[in-house]
Amino acid sequence: MKIEFTPEQLKYKEEFRIFVDTVIIPEADRNDRDEHMCTEIYKKMSEKGYMGSMIPRRYGGLEMDMITLGLLNEEFGRGCSSARSLLTVHGMVALAINKWCVQEQKDYWLPKMASGKVIGAFGLTEPNVGSDAKSVETTAVLDGDYYILNGRKKWITMGQIADLFLIFARCEDKLTAFLVERKSPGFSTKPINGLMGARASMIAEVIMENCRIPKENIVGAVGTGLSHVAMSSLDYGRYTVACGCVGLAQACLVESLRYARKRRQFGQALRKNQLIQKIITEMVVNIEAARLLCLNAGYLKEIGDPDSIMAIWNAKYFASKMAVQVASDAVQIHGANGCCRDYPVERYYRDAKINEIIEGTTQMHEVMIATNAFRSYV
Ligand SMILES: Cc1cc2nc3c(=O)[nH]c(=O)nc-3n(C[C@H](O)[C@H](O)[C@H](O)COP(=O)(O)OP(=O)(O)OC[C@H]3O[C@@H](n4cnc5c(N)ncnc54)[C@H](O)[C@@H]3O)c2cc1C
Repeated sequence: MKIEFTPEQLKYKEEFRIFVDTVIIPEADRNDRDEHMCTEIYKKMSEKGYMGSMIPRRYGGLEMDMITLGLLNEEFGRGCSSARSLLTVHGMVALAINKWCVQEQKDYWLPKMASGKVIGAFGLTEPNVGSDAKSVETTAVLDGDYYILNGRKKWITMGQIADLFLIFARCEDKLTAFLVERKSPGFSTKPINGLMGARASMIAEVIMENCRIPKENIVGAVGTGLSHVAMSSLDYGRYTVACGCVGLAQACLVESLRYARKRRQFGQALRKNQLIQKIITEMVVNIEAARLLCLNAGYLKEIGDPDSIMAIWNAKYFASKMAVQVASDAVQIHGANGCCRDYPVERYYRDAKINEIIEGTTQMHEVMIATNAFRSYV
């Protein structure tokens, strides 16, 4: 078996690298400090078509295959975790619309999302509900031609700027998904600042007080919110996070190599020290292992293999833990300089940890992977 990118994938890979080097990386540090993503970034992402990377061509998207999407998210992860988060959540909402909405909704929303005119956000988590997603407290009640939503969502990535929210609520006591526009009556957002990492993710709390939306805005059917809509979006989200972690770790490796070559202690460059070489070796091998898990997951997803679900859990679990370890080692190699904002590894270290929390925590993945192992292997 040989893993080989197609000429088109290689062309895209190079295009992504240049875009991240010239557009994303120059702004990443400022965005992190300001806790704000400058509008120029998503304007340029839209111009390149990246906001529609996974949206079908007939709606104006680029309809990239899963491997190319992985490469896109790896490159964005290398440059800025917050920009990668935008790709992730926007894609999760677009995927839900494409997979579960009626044709009129697809025709209305997907071209707007592909062009970046409309930004999507994913609203599942609540103040009292995190990992135990089935316990969502937000309610939706049918009232004539409208649903009335009441409740709060917390930690919503891009919640400060999104136009369209995929909201999960209890309807007839069953978890159900809805499309909620920012302009809906009774809908508001409150910025959340002071995050440790992914600080330019424009996180917000979402407040719905008798929020009225047309009944056509239901996604799928009553009761399919978690089992179908959230699960398929989270599957996609986890894949993009895993690939982003590979990119983040790669950035840590490159910075560590540069530093270990330049920094001298005990009369020689750090790179000559065998303990430093061991750290570098572990970085290289673990990054490669995570990359291969991502490629395997992407390939299985692309061919529609049901094992892709487990492959994505494995990739997200391994890659997020790996990124935390690699980022920690990168800080270690940089010594005190690594603890200072003047060096990007300081940001990578803070950003890395977020990946163990989002799209299912490390522990929830341990529960899912182990449960599946007991079902599959004995
Ligand atoms: C930067 C950032 C962006 C986010 N963006 C979004 C977003 O866009 N949309 C959205 O809906 N949410 C978002 N979230 C929320 C995220 O999905 C949740 O934080 C996550 O699901 C975990 O929930 P929690 O924080 O409430 O932790 P809890 O569920 O309260 O868990 C706390 C700890 O206990 C562990 N734990 C819980 N249950 C078990 C168990 N049964 N066994 C073992 N350990 C367990 C967890 O692993 C964790 O370590 C974001 C979070 C962050 C930090």
